Amino acid sequence: MTSEYEIKKEICEIGRRIYNKGMVAANDGNISVKISENEFLCTPTGVSKGFMTPDYICKVDKEGKVIQANGNFKPSSEIKMHMRVYKERPDVVSVVHAHPMYATGFAIAGIPLTQPIMPEAVITLGCVPIAEYGTPSTEEIPDAVSKYLPYYDAVLLENHGALTYADSLLAAYHKMESVEFYAQLLFIAKQLGGPQELSEAQVQRLYEIRRQFGMTGKHPADLCQNNKEGKASCFNCNEKGSHTPDTTELVSEITKRVIEQLGLK
Ligand SMILES: [Zn+2]
Repeated sequence: MTSEYEIKKEICEIGRRIYNKGMVAANDGNISVKISENEFLCTPTGVSKGFMTPDYICKVDKEGKVIQANGNFKPSSEIKMHMRVYKERPDVVSVVHAHPMYATGFAIAGIPLTQPIMPEAVITLGCVPIAEYGTPSTEEIPDAVSKYLPYYDAVLLENHGALTYADSLLAAYHKMESVEFYAQLLFIAKQLGGPQELSEAQVQRLYEIRRQFGMTGKHPADLCQNNKEGKASCFNCNEKGSHTPDTTELVSEITKRVIEQLGLK
C-alpha cells in the first residue's frame, strides 16, 4: 500500500503539472485524495499548486474538518465541493479542480462540451455538462454539481472552471487534461467553420467499445437516461447538458390518438 507521504508527494507532482500546463493562475485550483473512509488529503488554500512540498498537504475528515495541518496551512476553500463528490460517489478516490483556459472559456460562454468530435473524448468523457453557477466556498457549488455526479466524471462549473474525479489521482488529473484537450479542439474546429460531428451510429459504436473495455467511472454510455432500449444518446443533450426527453415516442403516441379520434383507423 502506498504510504501517506508518497501520496502527498504525488499530490505535489500533480499540482506542478496543473500549474505548468497553465490550468491554474496564481493560487487557484485544488486537489484531494481519499485515504480512508474518514480521512482525506487535500491541498491548502492560498498557495501556488506548482510549488508545494509534502508538508503543505492538509488532512481532513469527511465533513471537511481539519485533522492535521502544518503551520498556517488551511484546507482548500473548495473542500465542500470535494467532499460532496466523495459522499455521492463512493467509487471516487481523487478529485481535481482547475481553471483550464479553454474548458473555462466554454463554462463562461455557457456552452457544454456535448459535440461528438473525436473518438477519445467520446470514449473517456461522453460529454461534459455545465453545473449552474454557485458562489465559491458555499454549498451552492456542491448542490449544483450534485445532480451530474451519477452520470459524469467531469463537469464544467459555470463562469468558473472544471471539476474531474476518478478512482486514482492520476486518472482524475488525466480526465482534467482530456477535458481541456477536448475543449481546445472544439474551439479550434469552431474557428475553422464548425466541427464535423461523428454520427449517432459512430458514437454508439464507441460507447460499445467503452462498455467492452469495462472502463471504470460513470459515463453517458452506461447511464444516459435517454439511452434505454437503444433510444437517443446523450448527444441529444440540451444546451445545459441535461437530458432532453426523447420525443419520438411521444409524437407517435399523439399521432396514433389523433388518427383514432378522426376515425381513420
Ligand atoms: Zn476554482
